[in-house]
Amino acid sequence: MKQFKKVSCILLMLLVCSTVVQAEEITPVVTNDQTTVYRDTSEMKLDYIQIPGFLVSPLQQKGEVLAPFNQSRIGYFHQGIDIRAAEGTPIFASADGTVTKAAPDSKGVTKGGGHMIFIDYGNGVEARYMHLSAYGVKAGDHVKAGDIIGFTGNTGDSSAPHLHFEYYIGGQAIDPAFIFEASGIIGDEVVVPISQKNNEESFLVIQG
Ligand SMILES: [Zn+2]
Repeated sequence: MKQFKKVSCILLMLLVCSTVVQAEEITPVVTNDQTTVYRDTSEMKLDYIQIPGFLVSPLQQKGEVLAPFNQSRIGYFHQGIDIRAAEGTPIFASADGTVTKAAPDSKGVTKGGGHMIFIDYGNGVEARYMHLSAYGVKAGDHVKAGDIIGFTGNTGDSSAPHLHFEYYIGGQAIDPAFIFEASGIIGDEVVVPISQKNNEESFLVIQG
């Protein structure tokens, strides 16, 4: 397994340096240690890309998918997933990381993503949370997986309270639906309460 991890780290670095891997060519694979593994099915044939650590679902209750990843919009593609959530629903950090932004969209609170939080998870991985009603963190804060970072809302270009969640690897947005599916937030799986997070068997989200 050690050898596998070493190889995977090198592959991740290759991915980060690459601009040719397309989002839809990276597929997450759930494995049996505490990591998230992505299978790269692009022409580069990088095999596996491994991200250390758990991935916690940003929401901990079931929610309707209002808009999927890559949905075609006028002039652009939707770079995240929209999950319906009542105003004020807690939002959780998906992994350990550093808050790089906790502020309104540069165009204003009523435009774009409204109140937004960006978190750098290291290893070229970043998450963005949008349309919030309130912040639980500020730029520069270090967060742990499962920490409450803010609360859902309807700010920015939004017509109903929901969380817009984006997930990037090496600057490339990928479909984050797997994070919600693995913890039963969307789909038919059983929801795992956040209070069980110390039990490795039931915690999560993605146990790799
Ligand atoms: Zn959205």
